[in-house]
Amino acid sequence: MKTLIVALDNVQICNLAPSLSELGFTPELIIVSNENDVHRCTYANKIVVLDAVDVTAYELAQSIVDLIRRHENAFEYIILPATVLGLEVGPLVAYDIDALYIANVYDVSIADGQLLFKRLIYGGLAEEFIHPKKSPLVVTWKEIPIAEPQVNRAEPLIEKTHVSKPSDSTVRLLGKERIEEKVDLRKARKIVAVGRGLKSREDIGIINELARLLGAELAGSRPIVADYKWLEPGRQVGLSGITVKPELYVAVGISGQIHHIMGMKDSKFVVAINKDANAPIRQYSDVFIKADLYKFIPLLIEKLKSVR
Ligand SMILES: Cc1cc2nc3c(=O)[nH]c(=O)nc-3n(C[C@H](O)[C@H](O)[C@H](O)COP(=O)(O)OP(=O)(O)OC[C@H]3O[C@@H](n4cnc5c(N)ncnc54)[C@H](O)[C@@H]3O)c2cc1C
Repeated sequence: MKTLIVALDNVQICNLAPSLSELGFTPELIIVSNENDVHRCTYANKIVVLDAVDVTAYELAQSIVDLIRRHENAFEYIILPATVLGLEVGPLVAYDIDALYIANVYDVSIADGQLLFKRLIYGGLAEEFIHPKKSPLVVTWKEIPIAEPQVNRAEPLIEKTHVSKPSDSTVRLLGKERIEEKVDLRKARKIVAVGRGLKSREDIGIINELARLLGAELAGSRPIVADYKWLEPGRQVGLSGITVKPELYVAVGISGQIHHIMGMKDSKFVVAINKDANAPIRQYSDVFIKADLYKFIPLLIEKLKSVR
């Protein structure tokens, strides 16, 4: 199954190549946007370095379509990361080449001799199974393995090109600004996450102190991060935040709604502190402590300090 992987600057998506190859997908071409990333994506015979600085999604999609049309074999599968850019470019490419489009896939397998794609729907409450009946198919991929890609082929053919900007383009990019993320929760071995059990922004201090003593990163549920803005955006765990897999996840004053659970369910050891014995997080916890966080956390901090 001839496959194009459009990695651009999200080269982690190349990590999918080995498992996709086992299912019969053959990456024939990989598109990256930085020459220095070529060695991290050597799973195809050919790699195109597409200089895509300061271009619109439309311009980028046009260039990808040009590359698809120039390729001698027709691609059956085109895979992009389900990033903001990928989710914009994917449908534009699919429209231009008359392909099917599936967004936010997180798994593919073969069932009854057919490909079976999986994705979450209804905000993560249900799983959808899709057997595409025709190709080409454009897919945006949501859960991308974070392991370091292995180098597969020694010397792929490398072509460098740039996105051409049509003079009649109706959308003009005025500028881009990089927001520095101070933390990458995906790499954290220990996380202390706090939820709406916390009464005020000032109280983040005690949670921070606990995280510091445990050598953990601080994280939050969506209300804490997105609604109250008590923590920076890169610290939200959950369906619309970051998916984490730490060795220790301490959930303080978090109820355990499915949208949060989706982001932390693969943590190795979960400790939940909640004053409600029936909080749903209990069923996802290895240790559940029924307690008022304002009474329990200071005692825990004291204890941790005394054993240091
Ligand atoms: C499409 C969609 C995407 C979403 N994405 C995310 C996401 O990425 N991440 C996310 O977290 N949510 C997400 N949500 C929101 C999610 O559904 C929940 O609303 C949210 O997770 C609840 O956050 P919480 O547990 O902090 O708050 P609550 O549900 O209000 O829970 C607070 C908990 O604190 C406990 N508590 C209160 N006081 C104390 C105390 N003194 N001591 C101890 N415990 C106490 C309570 O018993 C309760 O269990 C999403 C929702 C939608 C619709």
